Amino acid sequence: MSTLVQPSLPDGGQEGNGQEGSARGRRGPRRFGIRARLFLAFVAVAVLSVAACALGWLSYDRLGGTLDEFAESHLPALGLAAKLAEEGGAIIATAPILAGSRTEDEMDAIRDTLGRRLSALRTLTDAIEGGVPGLRPVVDALGRNLAELDGTVRQRLTLARRNQEAIERLRWLHADFLDEIEPLVADARFNIQSALYSVESGKASAEQVRILREENRRSEAVLQIGANGNLAVGLIARAAMLATPEMLDDNAGFLDETADRLQRDLLALSNWPDGVSLGQVVAQLLGLARGAEGGVPALRREELETAARGQVLLAENRDIVARLNGLIARQVQAVEHDSRAAAARSAQAVAFGRTALLASAVVSLLVAVLVAWLYVNRNLISRLTRLGDAARAIAAGDLKADIPLGGRDELSDMAAALLVFRDTAIAVEEANAQAIIDNAQAGLAITDAQGMIEFVNPLAAALIAPLDGGGDGKGAAARLADRLDADGARRVEAFFAQVSAGAEGIAPTLSILATGRRPDGGTVPVQVGVRPFRRRRQQRFIVTLTDMTERLEAQHLLERTVRERTTDLQATNDRLERAIAEHQRTERELREAQAELVQAGKLAALGQLAAGVGHELNQPLAAIRSYAHNGRKLIGLGRVEEAGANLGKIADLTARMANITNHLKRFARRPDARLGAVELEPVIQGALSLFGNRLREEEVAVDLQLAEAGAPLRVRAEEVRLEQVLVNLLSNALDAVAGAPVRRILIRAEAVEKGEGGEGEAVRIEVRDSGPGIAADPVEQIFDPFFTTKPVGLGLGLGLSISYNIVRDFGGVLSVAESGPGGTAFALTLTRLP
Ligand code: ADP
Repeated sequence: MSTLVQPSLPDGGQEGNGQEGSARGRRGPRRFGIRARLFLAFVAVAVLSVAACALGWLSYDRLGGTLDEFAESHLPALGLAAKLAEEGGAIIATAPILAGSRTEDEMDAIRDTLGRRLSALRTLTDAIEGGVPGLRPVVDALGRNLAELDGTVRQRLTLARRNQEAIERLRWLHADFLDEIEPLVADARFNIQSALYSVESGKASAEQVRILREENRRSEAVLQIGANGNLAVGLIARAAMLATPEMLDDNAGFLDETADRLQRDLLALSNWPDGVSLGQVVAQLLGLARGAEGGVPALRREELETAARGQVLLAENRDIVARLNGLIARQVQAVEHDSRAAAARSAQAVAFGRTALLASAVVSLLVAVLVAWLYVNRNLISRLTRLGDAARAIAAGDLKADIPLGGRDELSDMAAALLVFRDTAIAVEEANAQAIIDNAQAGLAITDAQGMIEFVNPLAAALIAPLDGGGDGKGAAARLADRLDADGARRVEAFFAQVSAGAEGIAPTLSILATGRRPDGGTVPVQVGVRPFRRRRQQRFIVTLTDMTERLEAQHLLERTVRERTTDLQATNDRLERAIAEHQRTERELREAQAELVQAGKLAALGQLAAGVGHELNQPLAAIRSYAHNGRKLIGLGRVEEAGANLGKIADLTARMANITNHLKRFARRPDARLGAVELEPVIQGALSLFGNRLREEEVAVDLQLAEAGAPLRVRAEEVRLEQVLVNLLSNALDAVAGAPVRRILIRAEAVEKGEGGEGEAVRIEVRDSGPGIAADPVEQIFDPFFTTKPVGLGLGLGLSISYNIVRDFGGVLSVAESGPGGTAFALTLTRLP
């Protein structure tokens, strides 16, 4: 159960109610909504579009009418005029050809063509009749002209044919003339010669003289006729080809004179029977020359006149066609004029249509823009956007979002519905909040900006008794500060004072531990958290109150436990430190023990070597003794020089012994802990030298193979300890080959690459024997301390164990490389140093 100090809904109630009221008010009579408005707008735009189409249709109709009229009335006339012009032109071109025809066939063909063109012209004239006044008479005149021209040409051709025939006759007459005149001339010549003969012989009578004179006159006349006849023939023939009447006149003059002369000469022959036929031929010739009807010049004259008439007719023809063309041109001009008028009318119609279309398109556009901008954008879209924003804000939880309610259309209905939705959401949210707050496991209270408690949930009521006068929800509202202890109250008051002094919207938060006054008069430790929030645009503070009783107890318990644990841990820590110190001491002792052990092992080895070393020293000692004895004797005999030589040998032997003992001393001394570069060969030789006697006695062959003779192999080691390892390996190898049939020891050293995990070069030293192999399974146990297979007193089982550790200290590895009946090989790998 909650204690509501002040009702939470009324804040937005009035606004909500007002909006709802107005929304309700709109659901009444039928109204002019979005659908009707948009419908009206689209109808307006559509009407404008239809009007534009109608205007366009009308103007195109007008244009079409004008074009039709043009096509119907003027285009055919234009076409006919063009054809008329074409036919006229063709007639002009053809008429001269007709006039110049050489044969009748040619003339007939051309006349046919002209006839066709003329009838085409007539047809066109009939077709165009109404349109071109005065065209028919011109065409008729053209027809007459062509008929006349045809007649003229025909006449000219007839005359030409007759002329040709006359020329033909002239040719025959000329031949006859020549046939007649030549015998006459020959006769006359004979008669004259005969008479002349008589005259010359003196026998001529008067009769003969007369005859002679007569013959002479005749022959002269004949010769004259021959000459003039030939001339006349030439002139007649020429007349047939002369081109102008003037030339014909000149020619006629000559011809008349020649004809006169011929007639005169013919008179001279009139009584002469032989000249009769010549006279007839000449008469015919004269007929051809002068005959008014069949005479060649007359025919030619007539022919020329006919041709001239033809030319006149041709000129006339051209004139008529020019007239025709003039008429056509006028017609074409008229049509052109009409066409221009029609084009102007069409352009007018187009311009009008264009302007009208443009105007109606502009008006449509304006209406559409006005509808889109003023109504759709500024009214619908902006309201829809605001409504969408409001809906989104409400969906996102902002229940105070502003809902646009203006207008009397479907959008305002949507806004009203959204308003109802928002109010419902607010109610549901508040109910939910109330339920959450009531069931919250923490005390929750709400105060105003001055710290006055407006609301508490049951848990908070149990912690701070928010109402003066009891916890039953009936008392007056209290201040949060008054429900806390003095310190808490002071801090809460300071907080709210800071809130009222501070800038709007940046209220601080508060978290304090205080003591609350319970409704039963007791106190309780509470954690008080104060946080600002805004409810319906007003500053409010949510106060969380957590009962700290249990938490403080738990904290105290925890602190106690921590203290106890800390003490225990301190004790354990001290123990551990002591154990570590003990461990370090033990380790130090172990190291020392190990060093001792190494030394002991070395000394043990030395002990084993002692017999051999003793024998090694015994030999030079016995020799020294012998040289000393002999020396004394030689000195006694005064052979000082020989004695001196003996002493020299003694000195050499002493030096060799000193060498051996020095080496032993070096081997026996405690090794240096520091590592460095140790040259391998001297160490191997030193180790071998300790076994010189034993090797000889036991007849063991030693094969020493050191790779890279040029550059001595150096390894990272300490000299004494390395020698100790090698002494141990050699000692074991000698023990192993002791009973073997073949007794061989191979010592090989070579530089190798370091194996896995290692960088740089290494040196691998192998000590291989021909012994029976290692009698241990697994083989690795030979490295365990005190493992030995040798009889008591001969082996301690420490040699390999110590060697293994020494090599490991060098950073190297000692291992069994091979073991079997053929022998054993130990591999010692050390870091190579330059
Ligand atoms: P010890 O020589 O005192 O026995 P080591 O630790 O030197 O002690 O050797 C342990 C054992 O390893 C030897 O007793 C022997 O059985 C075996 N061993 C060592 N070297 C060889 C070898 N070269 N051939 C055969 N067995 C060997």
